[in-house]
Amino acid sequence: MIEYSIYPGGRRRIVTFSYDDGPEQDARLIELFNRYGVKGTFHLNGKHFLGLSRAKWQAIRTRYEGHEIACHTLQHGWLERMPEISAVKEVVRDRQILEDIAQRPVVGMSYPNGSFSETAIQVLQACGIVYSRTTNSTRKMALPQDFLSWNPTCHHRDALVLCQRFLDDLDSYWTGPLFYIWGHSHEFRTEEDWVHIESVVRSLSGNEKIWYATNLEIFDYMSAQRQRDLQLRACRRAGARAGTQRCVYGSRGP
Ligand SMILES: [Zn+2]
Repeated sequence: MIEYSIYPGGRRRIVTFSYDDGPEQDARLIELFNRYGVKGTFHLNGKHFLGLSRAKWQAIRTRYEGHEIACHTLQHGWLERMPEISAVKEVVRDRQILEDIAQRPVVGMSYPNGSFSETAIQVLQACGIVYSRTTNSTRKMALPQDFLSWNPTCHHRDALVLCQRFLDDLDSYWTGPLFYIWGHSHEFRTEEDWVHIESVVRSLSGNEKIWYATNLEIFDYMSAQRQRDLQLRACRRAGARAGTQRCVYGSRGP
């Protein structure tokens, strides 16, 4: 299917950030994201929130407000290695806990340790997970072909060089539209590390040609586009059967 590179607000490019494990440093990273008007998805392990008070849950919800909370399994397990039933429990329990905190459906995920397999993907589908990010950096600006094995562009340590390439190509029809950066905020150990990620965020921010979106917002938008394309094809087939070139919607045929 041909993808049309136009996004909400008439923008032609997308930037998204994706951070795993939910360490304390997420708070500082979110403050940085908010300051520059970019959005992130935060993949959390439910085990860290078991037994916490409702007030603590509220504080976590407030911390991630304006961004996306997504799954990362209950205990950070290796999905590829564990029996299916254990994988189901890891995903479902994580999802339940995070939905109690977020007070909304949590249907996104990233694979702990980048570990996944065809069986793991089937488990995710059964558990209602609609996308999951790998740790396989492509260094490309491509939209995913398969949202359940969504490869990012790069880890944040490699982002600054690619930022310039992405910005240089904003008006090009020869390159993909999505710059997807992933990492862990606990990797920012020194002030130099924070200066580096701020340089990345600042360079990508405030650009009217870029849509700053969470992972789920991208999934939702692309899914709606693809659904419309499928409907259009179905209409054309129905039109062909009815002997007309026109698209025929539902029962409102000629
Ligand atoms: Zn992790």
